[in-house]
Amino acid sequence: MSAAAETIFSKIIRKEIPADIVYEDNLAIAFKDVNPQAPVHILVIPKEPIAQLADAESKDHALMGHLLLTAKRVAEQAGLDNGYRVVINSGVDGGQTVYHLHLHILGGRAMAWPPG
Ligand code: AMP
Repeated sequence: MSAAAETIFSKIIRKEIPADIVYEDNLAIAFKDVNPQAPVHILVIPKEPIAQLADAESKDHALMGHLLLTAKRVAEQAGLDNGYRVVINSGVDGGQTVYHLHLHILGGRAMAWPPG
């Protein structure tokens, strides 16, 4: 399965519900997380509804690279010059709650390791 079911993120892509969008291009969109876990917490998502990283396929490799470079660009734009963390939760054990692939950009404070 590679197509995601309709999620709240589909509605954000279609601008049917409000979001604080900080970046958008033809393949991806980035917006502030509604429940931030750090001073800066931004989500980068593909417009194509891939449910989770575990569903990404070989044909998606350029898109995957684009999402990572978009995360870098958005982090720069947010002024995270001292570093940041990029997280993808995939599936139940990964702690994923919204089944539309997304990269979390977390910054503005020092991150602990290991994560919970
Ligand atoms: P995950 O647990 O990795 O699936 O992350 C889902 C993230 O989406 C969580 O950090 C939520 O706070 C965030 N989230 C859910 N709904 C919205 C929304 N409408 N706008 C922005 N972020 C959202």
